[in-house]
Amino acid sequence: MKGRVVVVREYGKPFEIEEYEVPEPEDGAVLLRMTQAGICGSDLHTWRADQSQEYLPIPPTGRVMGHEGTGQVEVLGKGVTTDTLGTPIEEGDRIVYSAVFPCYRCHLCLRGDTNWCANRAYPVAGVYPYFTGTYADFLYLPPRHPFFRVPDELPDEILGPVNCAMGTVTTGLQRAQLTDGQYVVIQGAGGLGVHAVAMAKDMGADRVIVLDRLENRLQLAEEFGADHTINIEEFNTPETRVRRVWELTEGRGADVVVELVGRAELLAEGIDMLSNGGTFIEIGDIVRGREVSIDPSKLLSGKSILGSRMYRPSLLPTLLSFLVRNQDKLPFDKLVSHKFPLAEVNEAFAKAEWSQTQTEITRAMLVP
Ligand SMILES: [Zn+2]
Ligand SMILES: [Zn+2]
Repeated sequence: MKGRVVVVREYGKPFEIEEYEVPEPEDGAVLLRMTQAGICGSDLHTWRADQSQEYLPIPPTGRVMGHEGTGQVEVLGKGVTTDTLGTPIEEGDRIVYSAVFPCYRCHLCLRGDTNWCANRAYPVAGVYPYFTGTYADFLYLPPRHPFFRVPDELPDEILGPVNCAMGTVTTGLQRAQLTDGQYVVIQGAGGLGVHAVAMAKDMGADRVIVLDRLENRLQLAEEFGADHTINIEEFNTPETRVRRVWELTEGRGADVVVELVGRAELLAEGIDMLSNGGTFIEIGDIVRGREVSIDPSKLLSGKSILGSRMYRPSLLPTLLSFLVRNQDKLPFDKLVSHKFPLAEVNEAFAKAEWSQTQTEITRAMLVP
């Protein structure tokens, strides 16, 4: 049996769809049939060629695309009878799995910080077990890779973003030690931003302010609990946006600012939105080689800058519980606005692009 895998061979060129023999899982491994794979902002950076060969070289055989997604168990390798929490698992069950594939052979993995693994690398195309990205018919989970059975009461539609967008923003907010009654500013209302609103409110944020340039995304952010939105087409300079945040927080500033757009200059802007003692969380700016200048004296009153990437696998069961608890309260079914067949991956990216154009898409999913 063969299956399809989406590969990037050169920045700025269309993705290619390659076919590989589907491997039998080795003992302890799991073969997953993908049911949804999200187009994340980081994938758009690759498609847009924000990344460059100089800073992040693509190997000669190409790189496998896609990291966010979910699926159902196609084949269980010998010895796999439960998920990572001991819940019995069978072929056909829906699971979420950790989208971090660390080395488990470095000091960071050893202490549990697998999301900061020192040997982290993008999966190379054409290398066994071939199915190492989510834009594919299958995904190969190596032995002991963390995965969790999805509670039956959760519909398929809300599972796609769990293992990237949701896990990433939750970890960022936890690292900033967000607590009851605090004020949060979220830069960017895409898939990560809308999840960040829901999480910040669930963690007790008193006021959540969201910035974006797309009105449909800001409206969705409101449906997920945003108290105020700022359209950056209207507030079109850093100064006016900073002033607006200070107005909306009655001169107090934000306790936490979360960057989810992927523009370096938002660091400087975000620091100016913080109250003394506040924390800026950098998540979106994954493109290497971009710089911004800041005034370090602004940090002296206890302001912090934290970087955050992905999450520890132990977070995933917590996120599933969050969804069970909130699925009737929040419109999760609206989060994935568009679905595209895998064969139309290039069209899907063109439509999901927001950087220079307006798009109706909040989160697009590829469906094999
Ligand atoms: Zn992602
Ligand atoms: Zn490691």
